[in-house]
Amino acid sequence: MANVPVQRMSNLMAKTLRDDPADAEVLSHKLLVRAGYVRRTAAGVWTWLPLGKRVLANVERIVREEMDAIGAQEVLLPALLPREPYDATGRWDEYGPELFRLQDRKGGDYLLGPTHEEIFTLIVKDQATSYKDLPVILYQIQTKFRDEARPRAGILRGREFLMKDSYSFDLEDEGLAQSYALHRQAYQRIFERLGLDYRICAATAGAMGGSKSEEFLAPAAAGEDTFADCPNCDFAANTEAITYELAPVDGSGVAAAEEIPTPDTPTIETLAASLGVPASATLKNLLVKVDGEIVAVGVPGDREVDMGKVEAHFAPAAVELVTADDFADRADLVRGYVGPQGLEKVTYIADPRVAPGTAWITGANKEHTHAKNVVAGRDFEVDTYVDVVVVQEGDPCPKCGTGLKLDRAIEIGHIFQLGRKYADALKLDVLGQQGKPVRVTMGSYGVGVSRAVAALAEQTADEQGLCWPREVAPADVHVVAAGKALQTELALDVAEKLAAAGLRVLCDDRPGVSPGVKFTDAELIGVPQILVAGRRSAEGVLELKDRKTGEREELTVDEAIARLV
Ligand code: ATP
Ligand code: MG
Ligand code: MG
Ligand code: MG
Repeated sequence: MANVPVQRMSNLMAKTLRDDPADAEVLSHKLLVRAGYVRRTAAGVWTWLPLGKRVLANVERIVREEMDAIGAQEVLLPALLPREPYDATGRWDEYGPELFRLQDRKGGDYLLGPTHEEIFTLIVKDQATSYKDLPVILYQIQTKFRDEARPRAGILRGREFLMKDSYSFDLEDEGLAQSYALHRQAYQRIFERLGLDYRICAATAGAMGGSKSEEFLAPAAAGEDTFADCPNCDFAANTEAITYELAPVDGSGVAAAEEIPTPDTPTIETLAASLGVPASATLKNLLVKVDGEIVAVGVPGDREVDMGKVEAHFAPAAVELVTADDFADRADLVRGYVGPQGLEKVTYIADPRVAPGTAWITGANKEHTHAKNVVAGRDFEVDTYVDVVVVQEGDPCPKCGTGLKLDRAIEIGHIFQLGRKYADALKLDVLGQQGKPVRVTMGSYGVGVSRAVAALAEQTADEQGLCWPREVAPADVHVVAAGKALQTELALDVAEKLAAAGLRVLCDDRPGVSPGVKFTDAELIGVPQILVAGRRSAEGVLELKDRKTGEREELTVDEAIARLV
């Protein structure tokens, strides 16, 4: 590999900042902006400056190497996609408000791809004709677009972001299981090489559809997912995925509400019992139907609630419409967004513990409307297939009964066995061994490439700033000229020698910047080794500092080179 020239800080396009950006809520956002890695261009839309781009490219390289290693073939699909295939699978409508839809000058409908199952299916339909063409795994590393409701976590949740997505195509279920297992292993290698602490958790399939699915979750306070971990057995799951079977309720709908007198406020126990879940559970993501029509769904993919419909059906019966203020001090129990006006969006519906006997129906499009005193089974039908119960700390492990531990985490990867959902919708068949068409079975697999950069920043940063593992760091060594001409000369000399030996070198040669500022910036930027030409430069002695441990050591130029290469 060709040597990389020394990157001098004197002409590096990266301005470090002393203060956190005003809009930054999470650590990675603060540090990546302050250290000059990224700049915000619009809400959830980011520019990668040179240091950031290097880290991003390193993550991409690791992902690419591990995908290639399982025999996956890299392609590049467009981000601008026609509507028709998404109509064929129903996702043009079902994807909801997260989908960026647009029109061309002729009025044709397009979308910016949030994920590419449809288009990959069509490519294989075009290219593969016989069973001999399968199995195949295709992948791309590409920009994705999702109009996230609250892109507030910096790079962690962009509206434009980089994803590695791959898709497997097999003839048989066993083949799909094999492709899935290959991805699972590749992802383990990717996240280990990235230096991320992660758990593999059972997950729900969400907007992708399909059956088996697991998430790779990186524990971090900034995470927006919660995973339950059993201290006693190997059970680990996103709390979204821990489900309790609800007894099907006769869908009597609201019409029946008049015939049923409003009951005395039931206790938590009776409400929970009526839904067939443990009393300690918080309900979320119920599918709510009023007169057979879906009015509220809290599952990923956010179908919006039509509050008009809810109001028309519920009010003025026993149901009271309330405002977000009623939830304001209940934020801890509600998964949603707490904004200046209190709780602004709630994605779940009933919490028997907050107010026994009531359920709230809320939606993304009418943020401050909630219905109270709704009784499940009387006022709405609870469907059995999207019920999810959010588990509380200490709830019994579904496998062994031990009290579960709950932690926040960032979803860095997600693998799905899709089955034949997309192949059915788009009629993807190949000729089988017997000469008859065989429907193909698929998997879909994603790594949040840009998100991984932020997740890594979250997990590795300390009080001084970023602190990258070597393989993803923007440089191997950060040489600091701490002094005047003599120090700068030595620093540049050693920097050139290190670069000639194949290292990636950042050299702080900025004239007129004090050693103190340079040290602070070096810590903030987070290159794993910091080599300082300072006090003893005249003797040719440098100080090597390990960014992570803080250990220091005085070395000659030759010793430093020997140590670092
Ligand atoms: P989340 O639950 O965080 O919204 P998701 O489940 O919608 O993520 P997937 O559809 O599973 O995401 O996409 C695959 C991967 O892409 C995710 O595991 C995550 O790492 C990454 N990803 C998803 N949305 C974003 C985003 N808005 N910004 C950055 N990365 C994202
Ligand atoms: Mg999402
Ligand atoms: Mg998710
Ligand atoms: Mg996911």
